[in-house]
Amino acid sequence: MTKGTNRIWLSPPDVREPERKMLLAALDSGWVAPTGPDVFAFEAELADRCGTAHAVAVSSGTAALHLGLLLAGVGPGDDVLVPTLTFVASANAPTYCGARPIFIDSDPATWNISPQLLADELDQRRRERRLPAAVVTVDLYGQCADYDAILPMCEELEVPVIEDAAEAVGATWRDRPAGSFGRFGVLSFNGNKVITTSGGGALLTDDDDAAARARSLATQAREPTVHFEHSEVGFNYRLSNLLAAFGRGQLMSLDERIERRREIRGRYEDALAGVPGLRLAPEDPRGTSNAWLTCITLDPAEAPCTPTDVRRHLEGHDIESRPVWKPMHAQPVHAGAPARLDGTADRLFATGLCLPSSSGMSDGDLDRVLAALRESLSPG
Ligand SMILES: *Cc1c(COP(=O)(O)O)cnc(C)c1O
Repeated sequence: MTKGTNRIWLSPPDVREPERKMLLAALDSGWVAPTGPDVFAFEAELADRCGTAHAVAVSSGTAALHLGLLLAGVGPGDDVLVPTLTFVASANAPTYCGARPIFIDSDPATWNISPQLLADELDQRRRERRLPAAVVTVDLYGQCADYDAILPMCEELEVPVIEDAAEAVGATWRDRPAGSFGRFGVLSFNGNKVITTSGGGALLTDDDDAAARARSLATQAREPTVHFEHSEVGFNYRLSNLLAAFGRGQLMSLDERIERRREIRGRYEDALAGVPGLRLAPEDPRGTSNAWLTCITLDPAEAPCTPTDVRRHLEGHDIESRPVWKPMHAQPVHAGAPARLDGTADRLFATGLCLPSSSGMSDGDLDRVLAALRESLSPG
């Protein structure tokens, strides 16, 4: 990738001195591979931060989703309920287990899985005696789903919840950390997320046995024998020690990173107040978002232009922005999957736009984005 020197990206990595030092220290220590002390320390620090008994560091958020679903018992022929408005990994992971995703539309109040539509789907399936094997919730753009509503209904039916908190590390709901709500929680440390290991993820759980099983499955299900005995099919999903060291450095400044992302969100809010038809993605007062990405919607009946116009204008100033996730029910790869829809996700896709939000963005760059935005959104 050739980077334009002046280009402002949506959410590039924000790399600071501590993680650089910790990466080099791990390298110099000789613990280059496979696992090592930084992996175990990173896991302990993540579990502590996310309020779970265990964190298992793996090579991606997608790998963590796969392991979480497997350990929740999802298998061939099963159905898994998934919000339609998400990144494709949430919908692909069930298919890795031979299961099928069933898509549920969004709640306009949070953009997350609609508790009402989820209740309707669960109710119908209870009556028809075909409960799903799991529910995947997604904490979209850094805001937790409505766990007040979701957890009791899943608990009552004993359907396990897998919380895809890939975008939401450090966010909270009722002061409880994102990633701690389901039987399993999933974090991603992909390069565009709030903290990164360049590529990586973690599976969070309170279940001692499941954590041990996850570590085993992530290491080719290798049993402790000199000749590598295997009784089941595993995966090569473990995070490397070098990347864990880098992640530990990133995690140390998680609060500052979130503070900066929320500050950026606030600057957008102030600068765009009064643009007709423009709204920021709503924030539910029961939680605190990590503001991973600031998203806006433009109501076509009132707004001076479309999200595509804004995106093209920003592109002309070498500024990256992106549409809101294209809903999974509209993706060719998942076109055959059943879906319970009310039009909310389609509307958010048609009217939404994600704006540059990196915690590493300078005030000067932010001013540049704000000026270009105001230019594109000024009437006439
Ligand atoms: C980024 C992301 C993932 C996947 O994480 P990777 O680490 O890139 O595999 C999963 N779900 C959501 C909602 C994401 O945004």
